[in-house]
Amino acid sequence: MIGVRVDIDTVRDARMLPTTLELLESHGIRASFFVTTGLDETYRNFRHYLNPMKFMAGNTLRRYGFSMFSGLLTRKDVQSSKELNMILEHGHELGLHGYNHYEWMNHLDNKSREEISCWISKGCELFEKAFGYYPECFAAPGFKTNAVFPEVLDGFGFRYSSDFMGVKPFYPDLFGIKLRTRQVPVSLAIGEHNDHEALKLLREQVASGYAVFYFHPSFEPLFRKSLMENALCCISGAIPLGEQV
Ligand SMILES: [Zn+2]
Repeated sequence: MIGVRVDIDTVRDARMLPTTLELLESHGIRASFFVTTGLDETYRNFRHYLNPMKFMAGNTLRRYGFSMFSGLLTRKDVQSSKELNMILEHGHELGLHGYNHYEWMNHLDNKSREEISCWISKGCELFEKAFGYYPECFAAPGFKTNAVFPEVLDGFGFRYSSDFMGVKPFYPDLFGIKLRTRQVPVSLAIGEHNDHEALKLLREQVASGYAVFYFHPSFEPLFRKSLMENALCCISGAIPLGEQV
């Protein structure tokens, strides 16, 4: 299985979609997009960066800086961005990236079965309202899961879910009982490596037969252009993950 996953975490990710869609099209790639639902609260990440030197360092400012400020100004639900309609118009796959990305990433740990179920239901409801169909696939925000999450997820009947990092698809096991929802892991967080290392890893994974890298429209296509060009070359012609499961 060779493919690419694109996460829409923020209103800014949605606004930057045209660049990503052009890039994918120029390589003949149809991707699997996952959009979060609910209010864009990325600006709340700011409290994690009270030390301005830490905030300015590395990728943090570039990845979240603009998103934090635009989220604060717009106070908008991510799934309501009109640019998102272009994903389906261009023949890509669109699934659900949870409900309230910020809350999910920061507060999932102590949530009960009922609370997680409530979040996923709410996400499905908002997704269906925005796009006119029930989501067929899921991806947990920030790869954040807890012990009860896989069992709760099973109740929703998604065709597949992408909640972990890994190098091959699998079915989670719960005390010896195999769950029904197939996991299609991300094998490479491409933006977290330098160009040389990222491309080396990607080529090795493609050669092994399983490569699913992921990126965000408001980051890699704008700030890591050459890496994106080369990475997409490695998987040209790829089709959505949902067409490969
Ligand atoms: Zn995300």
